[in-house]
Amino acid sequence: MDIAALYSLFKKHPSVQTDTRKLQAGDLFFALKGPSFNGNQFALQALEAGAAYAIIDEAPAMPNNRLILINDVLSTLQQLAGYHRSQFNIPFIAITGSNGKTTTKELVHAVLNAHFTTSTTQGNLNNHIGIPLTLLRVPANAQMAVVEMGANHQKEIEGYCAYTRPTHGIITNAGKAHLEGFGGVEGVKKGKGELFDFLRANDGTAFAFDDYDYLHKMSQGIQEIVWYGTEKGNITGSVLASEPFLQVAIHQGASFASLQTQLVGDYNLPNVLCAITIGKYFGVPDDAIKQAIENYKPGNSRSQLVEKGTNSIILDAYNANPSSMRAAIQNFAALQAPSKVLLLGAMMELGPESQQEHQALANLLQQYSWKQVVLVGGDFKNVTSPYLYLEDALQAREWLQQQHFEHTHILVKGSRSTGMERVLAEQL
Ligand code: ATP
Ligand code: MG
Repeated sequence: MDIAALYSLFKKHPSVQTDTRKLQAGDLFFALKGPSFNGNQFALQALEAGAAYAIIDEAPAMPNNRLILINDVLSTLQQLAGYHRSQFNIPFIAITGSNGKTTTKELVHAVLNAHFTTSTTQGNLNNHIGIPLTLLRVPANAQMAVVEMGANHQKEIEGYCAYTRPTHGIITNAGKAHLEGFGGVEGVKKGKGELFDFLRANDGTAFAFDDYDYLHKMSQGIQEIVWYGTEKGNITGSVLASEPFLQVAIHQGASFASLQTQLVGDYNLPNVLCAITIGKYFGVPDDAIKQAIENYKPGNSRSQLVEKGTNSIILDAYNANPSSMRAAIQNFAALQAPSKVLLLGAMMELGPESQQEHQALANLLQQYSWKQVVLVGGDFKNVTSPYLYLEDALQAREWLQQQHFEHTHILVKGSRSTGMERVLAEQL
């Protein structure tokens, strides 16, 4: 079956599902393969559960006219997504970068959706499966689409751009994340830069944070570049307060002088400025921009503030890499609080630099006078530091429970796989 024929099926059955456990009657089931599963084996089950059709790439044991055999399910899913995307003549805004993609995506979505019907990535579905699913969910009446793109190796973003065909793009930053797959920070810039390469070749528009010199270099030659920054740009702003929620002062470019977010962390400043800039660029009224950002509440252990008893916990256990760890530590240091505790889980995917990066972080911590610092798991194991080392988040939770802290600010951060949010699973 060719893509055009498959697309007519999709038009009749526009709800695509890749997981039989979430299947609903009438879905189109795509039988993807992963390291530990083969969707082909669930195809008949999917039909029994009510799928309209199942798209498979292994010959079935029993023929069934609702089983559609094609060469490769994943690449067909991506092609179908590209085909659907090509039906729209609206802005497609792609967001990549080392840190802050989801937060920026959600803020940009909130701002645009206040004025336009805007479709966006659900949660963090930002990879080779999530991006096609995001595109296939864009409804016929959409006026804007915002697509998060994650990557951990070269040529990945190039591949996503080929079928997403973004008209606008943001690289939030290019820092120390996924160093292993990219081959160092220069490799990260090159890899994320593939988004700007696409915009350059296709008369696109980039939005970029003026403060980062490397973004000036990376964006050279793009048809239109809209800047935001702390000093220069269409929108300029700075941190007005962060006690603990970030309050932003706007110096230039908007009719409001400040806004109060529900985000923890000064590192969210560029994310907020980006959302304002994009809102202004597309003509969202100022008051709607301000309201959308002020009302946005993060979920998912991402820059969240959790009050437990007399303690305030900054829960940032969604991911961690050297740049976001540094940002979180500096932010925590700047908080006015009588008593502070840090529970830091290991960082992953750092390749040969991992040990060195964990040591560098332990050294950074020693510049502050904190006594209560706990390092948890992974390559924190072998660092030289005066701090307590514990094997995992459960041990960290036990330790925390034994301390009986009161009126204390507690920073909890670590890579997704360290599961540092479990530290808070019970009462302190
Ligand atoms: P992922 O790679 O998991 O998709 P992401 O890029 O989508 O991550 P977010 O989920 O928005 O990033 O934020 C994750 C963490 O990154 C935050 O909790 C914070 O610690 C840090 N962070 C967010 N924004 C920035 C920024 N602009 N600069 C540096 N660090 C940031
Ligand atoms: Mg994300």
